[in-house]
Amino acid sequence: MATGPTHAMSGLAAWAAVTALADTHAIGQLSPKTWVVGATLSAGAALLPDIDHPKSTVASTFGAISRGTSAGISGFSGFLYRLTRTKRDSNREGTHRGFTHTVVFAVLAGLITTAIVQTSEGAALGVLMFFFAGLAVRGLLHTWSSNRDALLITVASLLLTLACWAWAGDQPTDAAAFGLAVMIGCIAHFIGDAITEQGCPMLWPVPLGGKTWFPVAPPKLLRMKTGGKVEMVLVGPGLTIAAMALSSVVLYRIGAAPWLAQLDLPSEVMSWIAPS
Ligand SMILES: [Zn+2]
Repeated sequence: MATGPTHAMSGLAAWAAVTALADTHAIGQLSPKTWVVGATLSAGAALLPDIDHPKSTVASTFGAISRGTSAGISGFSGFLYRLTRTKRDSNREGTHRGFTHTVVFAVLAGLITTAIVQTSEGAALGVLMFFFAGLAVRGLLHTWSSNRDALLITVASLLLTLACWAWAGDQPTDAAAFGLAVMIGCIAHFIGDAITEQGCPMLWPVPLGGKTWFPVAPPKLLRMKTGGKVEMVLVGPGLTIAAMALSSVVLYRIGAAPWLAQLDLPSEVMSWIAPS
């Protein structure tokens, strides 16, 4: 795994990139509220897959409740790994970096998110936003003590959720966009895992080289060490800048960042940001 802040930023950057590049599509023309909730969901979902590790920082986001859930998911993950592994797959427990690290999981998590928002009256979206904001805050502030600060994380996510509602409570929302945001966040996590040491079995159950849990990873040259120089000096800050820049572009296009027009950017840049 990459460090928490890198994972959270990768989720936000991926959401901002998809919505920025899809400006002629409905996903590039969301209401400001849908975009902000989607950004929170995506940043949080970029931490979600590590819920399969009871000792991970995300597992302690909401104290004993999330640690209990994590233990259950970890157990299921190990069971599924043992059940579907081939002789060629590595002989590991499979409790961590298993089911929650697959595209199947990302799609399921997205569909469940959309279904929850679509079938319930508003309140469910608040709960989802609170849950994913918790994961995102936990990821960003990964050096906070995991046990002592569960209450602080909970309060911070609650404040973030309330602020979002106070700002844009009555704007329309788009259930499909929220599902997509969760999928995007999970996939950003898989990529982050793939470029750190061990790869990520994201394509399960498609057999590759006789392995159903084939650890997808780029060539060694393109991999980095968790918390190493490449991540801390290059990848982390790069993702943060990309996330901020692309988020500003989308927010400007949907009318929530009028200040961008005052930056005096070159006309070529402006005509990409706001094609007339
Ligand atoms: Zn992971």
